Amino acid sequence: MSLGRARAVALVGLTGVPVDVEVDARSGLPGMSLIGMPDRALGEAVERVRSALGNSGCDLPARRLTINLSPAALPKQGSGFDLAIALAVLAALGIVPREGVAATVFVGELALDGRLRPTAGVLPAVLAARDAGVHTVVVPTANSAEAALVTGIRSLGMSSLREVAIHAGARISVKPVEPLLQSEQSFESDHTPELSDLADVIGQSDAIDGLITAAAGGHHLFLLGPPGSGKTMLAKRLPGILPELSTEEAMQVACVRSLSQAVNLTTIDLRPPFEAPHHTATAAALVGGGSVIRPGAVTRASGGVLFLDEAPEFHASVLDCLREPLETGSVTILRATTRATFPARFQLVMAANPCPCGNYGMPRSECSCAPMARRRYLARLSGPLLDRVDIRLTVARATTSRGPMANDAPVTSAQVRDRVIIARGAARERLRQTPWTINADVAGAYLTGSNLRLPRSVTKPIDMGVERGNLSLRGYDRVLRVAWTIADLDGSTSPSLEHVGRALFLRQGVPT
Ligand SMILES: [Zn+2]
Repeated sequence: MSLGRARAVALVGLTGVPVDVEVDARSGLPGMSLIGMPDRALGEAVERVRSALGNSGCDLPARRLTINLSPAALPKQGSGFDLAIALAVLAALGIVPREGVAATVFVGELALDGRLRPTAGVLPAVLAARDAGVHTVVVPTANSAEAALVTGIRSLGMSSLREVAIHAGARISVKPVEPLLQSEQSFESDHTPELSDLADVIGQSDAIDGLITAAAGGHHLFLLGPPGSGKTMLAKRLPGILPELSTEEAMQVACVRSLSQAVNLTTIDLRPPFEAPHHTATAAALVGGGSVIRPGAVTRASGGVLFLDEAPEFHASVLDCLREPLETGSVTILRATTRATFPARFQLVMAANPCPCGNYGMPRSECSCAPMARRRYLARLSGPLLDRVDIRLTVARATTSRGPMANDAPVTSAQVRDRVIIARGAARERLRQTPWTINADVAGAYLTGSNLRLPRSVTKPIDMGVERGNLSLRGYDRVLRVAWTIADLDGSTSPSLEHVGRALFLRQGVPT
């Protein structure tokens, strides 16, 4: 019996677990079998590895090869195990010295010609290897910049199985190959809004105010307005006025990007992410899924903003999928053998036209929708979803002039971000004895029952709203949360009557 060993990393959600790949080569009916809970894509590794070895000058002898991935109980998915399997085979056959590869982690999918393909999930895999005390990891050249973002581990980028085998000590002739690189399209260009500044937004002072309040309190936001009123323009500017991510948060965002597609990340971006799935998106596109489980838009937005433009156009069952992440800050995807949990803590921004044609209630425009169609349109956004949205704003079509405030210099995103950071600091300090850090998360009962309870002279407008039936109790709590954020932005220790009035105004958009 001759045994070869190499190491790989299995990713369960964003968590990587080192896996030992063992290959036993013995005489018998020639063949190769894979055991240890592989999924289908991984099951196909046998064929890829066989071809890649043959095309790298390492034809397999007539031996029986058994490949075992352990721990067996851990589900393993995807094609990133190819390289480790190939190296363990080479070690079992004595083509590379066994001790040369047994302690090294190999990550990468093989093309049939033996070249290494760009592979998804290299960043979380290298992090897991480092945390498990591994000294060296080999990755495809196309992912080498991404692997190099992890400090404390030596990462080697290589182009082909032949190159890896020679590096490990195989005596086969060198035949250099062109490395396989991923397409030029970078992740950033697709998923980060162009660097746009709040100062570019003209004539929308109420909407900007709502946006700043949403940023300061972490409140979910609903924007109602006709096409062309700048709802998308406003939403795209939210990440720019949010505080930068901590290193830890930014690393998580980068790991999600790495796992979403085979990209070669070159930096850890501290800007909060922005995701805007189209309204035709499926539930799997939104929350994640697929035969090899990939994170969805809610996870790619985690730490940043999820923007649903034309929210009523989304399929009701798709919108329903948002409930779990909104409640728990994470999303769990179940498969027969796998259960993957991904982070999904995002700030939700929904935008909608007032009716299917978009003109209802707008000055100088005529709505062509039937009254029934109009009522049904916004009713598509379910109560439980809207219940979590503290700020609801009506946005009018912007006028071309900057209006009566034209003499004021427009505020820039950087100026606003500084205010947001100070306001968030005040909230964190006030909430330090509680499980919450931002106003949006605070339970209503805490605001009305603790020492944060406001005097009746301040809550008068909303008390009256409840008495008259214009405001639900949930709506009452929402106004209170927003009032605290406005007070934080104002530098006040507690909301005034004026702050409560302002908060009430910021939920005028949609009745509750
Ligand atoms: Zn209409």
